[in-house]
Amino acid sequence: MPVRGPTKPSSSEDEFFAKEDAEKKRRLTQQVTKELAADERKKLRDLHFMHCPKCGMKMQEVRLHGMDVEVCFACGGIFLDKGEIDIIAAPQQKGIMGAILNWFKDETKPG
Ligand SMILES: [Zn+2]
Repeated sequence: MPVRGPTKPSSSEDEFFAKEDAEKKRRLTQQVTKELAADERKKLRDLHFMHCPKCGMKMQEVRLHGMDVEVCFACGGIFLDKGEIDIIAAPQQKGIMGAILNWFKDETKPG
């Protein structure tokens, strides 16, 4: 027994407009989703920008061998931008690690 669904278009013209309408709604939903995601991303960036990912305190920019390295003096965390780890890890740059360790030297310890 053939079943005629309520959404089945009665003519090719109806089918065309149904398809057109669905495509319009699909594109509208895609656009809203895209805008929401961008808005959400902006909110997150505004909320967390330059804050330590571990303790949430404001990070400080410290100039180090031509790089601006973000340092959290509250918990001792360091944030490196893309490529900065390669510069610091280069064998000819072994002095940089000493400089970084110096930032967190315990001031209460003698020497
Ligand atoms: Zn921190």
